[in-house]
Amino acid sequence: MCTGCALLCDDIEVETEGDKVTVVHAACRKGVARMKGCSEPLECTVDAEGADMDTAIAKAASILRDAKNPLIFGHGNSSSEAQKISIGLARKTGAYIDDTSSFCQGPIVEAILQERLRTCTLDDVRHKADVIVFWGADPSNSHPRHLSRYSYFPRGKERQRGWEEDRKAITIDIRKSETAIICKDERFYQLPAGGDAEFMAALTNALSGKVPKTSFDLDSKRILGLSNIMKKAKFGAIFVGLGLVYSLEELDPLFALMDKLNEFSDFHLIPMVGQYNMRGFNHNLFAETGYINRLKFDGDSKELAHGPENSVVEVLRNKNIDAALIIGSDPLSSLPLSIARHLADIPLITIDPCNNLTTSRSAVTIPCALGGVESGGTAIRMDGVEVELKKIFDSDRLSDQEILKRITEAI
Ligand code: SF4
Repeated sequence: MCTGCALLCDDIEVETEGDKVTVVHAACRKGVARMKGCSEPLECTVDAEGADMDTAIAKAASILRDAKNPLIFGHGNSSSEAQKISIGLARKTGAYIDDTSSFCQGPIVEAILQERLRTCTLDDVRHKADVIVFWGADPSNSHPRHLSRYSYFPRGKERQRGWEEDRKAITIDIRKSETAIICKDERFYQLPAGGDAEFMAALTNALSGKVPKTSFDLDSKRILGLSNIMKKAKFGAIFVGLGLVYSLEELDPLFALMDKLNEFSDFHLIPMVGQYNMRGFNHNLFAETGYINRLKFDGDSKELAHGPENSVVEVLRNKNIDAALIIGSDPLSSLPLSIARHLADIPLITIDPCNNLTTSRSAVTIPCALGGVESGGTAIRMDGVEVELKKIFDSDRLSDQEILKRITEAI
């Protein structure tokens, strides 16, 4: 199972020498890089000096115990078992807990878990889908085997003639992506940045038999043509990328479109989740608290606060936190510097297999086993299907699950 992205391809074969993966078969370039491990593995350190695991765990526990408002962040590259321990640790320490879904696919996953949006599995898409829409998504780059394994090229049980005759792929984006080029140019709809909600409303109108109008230069006939293709779909799937999520201020236009489509057809939606188990974190936190992210626990009490003010972005912007535990993530690289800067002013603990900018600024660094290679567990694929990760070989390094358990016990 490749943990290079949330497609979690399960047909990978590897050749090993000792505790190294030397050759990877079937994976894409992202997967090969992931399976071969880090170019710079993380060392166990306390205050930038080499330390043993017991010392690092004791120091991490003391930082979290002394903090009034710690943050626990990351989780997208951790097994579900590790995520559940992390949620328990946040409860125990009265921490803020969040993950990258807070500023990417969270609203879509939440709407699916609340049963406001219809979804399906990738296997359904492979076997049944005759109309596929990539909206603000470019899987050729973000999830390189998406088109070949599930969405466009494969022949499925009800799609024996494959992409040549049995499937129509549509791309909607602000630029002609590689996916748009692969999926035939004439089904590419180019929108201005931020134009998705307006286009969605026009498409919903077209489905209702009204003349679709937009303020930008897009021929009404082309929108009517698209609505006809979607109306006639036997099984449709919309893959929602970050381009669409960032463009929509609220999800109402998407709800309206999906509701209208399902008056005529059978349409589903799958978020193009990036990190291999981001969706697992959302599912696990939702099962325990009813929320998918942006939470603050209140010590051992059952109280919790939820909302945008508890998101990683807001607690950093407002300097609400006085320590942070980062698991399998690099917020100093991925967040804007103006927001992430506060992380450099507080005690940081990082658990990660590899060195990165955040580990270089951490008071405590604890190396962990690489998920899916040196440690196993379960994870939730981008379509909500739970899968089992099997480790390829034993490693001296503890899994993040074991490290989090030991920190929790030390507290
Ligand atoms: S598409 Fe994703 S899961 Fe599949 S091989 Fe590539 S990185 Fe790995």
